[in-house]
Amino acid sequence: PGRRKPVPFIEDTVVPPERLPEYIAALRTLLERHGLEYAMFGHVDVGCLHVRPALDMTDPDDAALVRPITEAVIRLLQRHQGLLWGEHGKGFRGEYARAFFGEALYPLLAEVKRAFDPDNRMNPGKIVAPDGDPSRIEGIDTVPLRGEYDRQIAEAVRRHWSDAMNCNGNGVCFDWDARQAICPSYKVTRDRIHSPKGRAGLLREWLRRLAREGLSPEDSPGVSPRRRRADDPDDFSHAVYDALQGCLGCKACATQCPVHVDIPEMRGRFLASYHRRYRRPARDYLLGALEHLAPPASTIAPAVNAALDSGPGRRLSRRLGLADLPGFARANAHRRLSDAGVAVLDAESVTDLSDAEIRRSVFVLGDTFTTYLDPAVPTALASVVRAVGLTPVVIASRPSGKALQVQGFMDAFHNTALAQTKRLARVSSLGRPVVGLDPSVTLTYRDEIRRAVGQADWSPPLLPQEWLNGVALSQPAATDTNAYRLFLHCTEQTAQPRAAEQWRAVFRRSGLTLEVVPSGCCGMAGTYGHLAEHQDHSRGLYDLSWRESAEAVDPARVLATGYSCRSQVQRFSGFRPAHPLEVLARQLGG
Ligand code: SF4
Ligand code: SF4
Repeated sequence: PGRRKPVPFIEDTVVPPERLPEYIAALRTLLERHGLEYAMFGHVDVGCLHVRPALDMTDPDDAALVRPITEAVIRLLQRHQGLLWGEHGKGFRGEYARAFFGEALYPLLAEVKRAFDPDNRMNPGKIVAPDGDPSRIEGIDTVPLRGEYDRQIAEAVRRHWSDAMNCNGNGVCFDWDARQAICPSYKVTRDRIHSPKGRAGLLREWLRRLAREGLSPEDSPGVSPRRRRADDPDDFSHAVYDALQGCLGCKACATQCPVHVDIPEMRGRFLASYHRRYRRPARDYLLGALEHLAPPASTIAPAVNAALDSGPGRRLSRRLGLADLPGFARANAHRRLSDAGVAVLDAESVTDLSDAEIRRSVFVLGDTFTTYLDPAVPTALASVVRAVGLTPVVIASRPSGKALQVQGFMDAFHNTALAQTKRLARVSSLGRPVVGLDPSVTLTYRDEIRRAVGQADWSPPLLPQEWLNGVALSQPAATDTNAYRLFLHCTEQTAQPRAAEQWRAVFRRSGLTLEVVPSGCCGMAGTYGHLAEHQDHSRGLYDLSWRESAEAVDPARVLATGYSCRSQVQRFSGFRPAHPLEVLARQLGG
């Protein structure tokens, strides 16, 4: 918190280990004299320290402290027979190389440089020049620093876009491990533009360029939104748009990045600003309205599915840039559950329940995906609720606003989210559990929706495993030691690190065995996998992280919590994994 952030400019200093206590004490006195806080860590056995004083590099007074403090540290090191660098960090401190290597070694260093890089093409200006001329080396304050650029952006804008400003470039998001959630678009493209760091950097540069024109993103010019990209192909915002279009919206960055750089949150706001200047593709309107269109479409599901599957339907999808669209369930969850005697109510009607009914109720919060496309999941949750001796009451699905946020319709998102949380407030006021189903929608309440509308009088829904962990399960009639293999939705994995442990515990208590597969994103991530331009990457991600594990066991043993993930397995491995609730419903006999 605060404007000052740790800046790694006293990196990797080394003193003989026996001098370390004295050196540290002197260093602390130096930093405290300047009124600076700092982080300090290192390798005590070899006398090596990494020290990061907190500075606000957008403040010229703070930036000006780098040189005097560096030079004071150099004096301290010389007093303690130390070095400015152990292994790394020489680059931009090359102006001090001569002092540390000494008059005898420095020319030899230049000779090595000359032998391998006579034309000074590799890292020119750092460490040593081929001719050993120290004037060709950059000074620590002659290189352009990020703070000089960042400070061109108005402070209010920097605050509003703090995630972009806070990226400190540490590169944790450049992760190639297929079992880690962060960052699928980087893993599959290997292009840094398609990482959180790349996107945060582009957003900062976009803000800076707007500031140079005297604009802020929220009031960027009222040029006709009918303008096409080709009308101004050199506008820098197109580069930002392209980088953000490659983001899957998996939210791994929001939790796995050490400073929680949340790219999807900024993408929504960027798109709102971008499309004040440039026309939107028709596809955006369709996808943004998805949660609103699904209920009427579901009432004529067979006709809609036949139309989507027909030649003209497929041609239209292709023209819109869509691929492999899912079909609607013939009987949606509301119909199925009503037929099974489960109450399906509007949130407005829950107050009609009697006190006795309320005391036994568990409210199941419907969402678009499981209600209209995959109704086996809400049906299974209702069965599990019954199996534990309680009464399921389904709150009829209404748009959460997630699809609008993803497409950057921020005003409509805000209004939709507000209406939905008012409904939720009525339900949560009854003091009974409210359980969501699809993890990506359920977690939207805790994040984007809470951020957009605040959380005065409503509580976000629980995930099924969170609710089940607080519920007594009856002794299972039979145990099954043959393990089920669960793939968690990647947003759930990162936002709820206890999800795997909670599902394992619920299965164990139900006499079942569960292993949770360490995996990254399946490549579907909501609508990403249905966009024509992402087909190769969507499949690439599935192959990278899911296919082998999903296809290695009996399909009946493969489970997935996310609707997107189940669709992705269906389209690339040819079977639909069950939701873990479906297995529990069978096991508990609800
Ligand atoms: S992990 Fe976060 S702070 Fe580090 S480079 Fe990536 S986005 Fe920036
Ligand atoms: S949301 Fe996912 S794909 Fe997008 S930047 Fe963050 S980690 Fe990468």
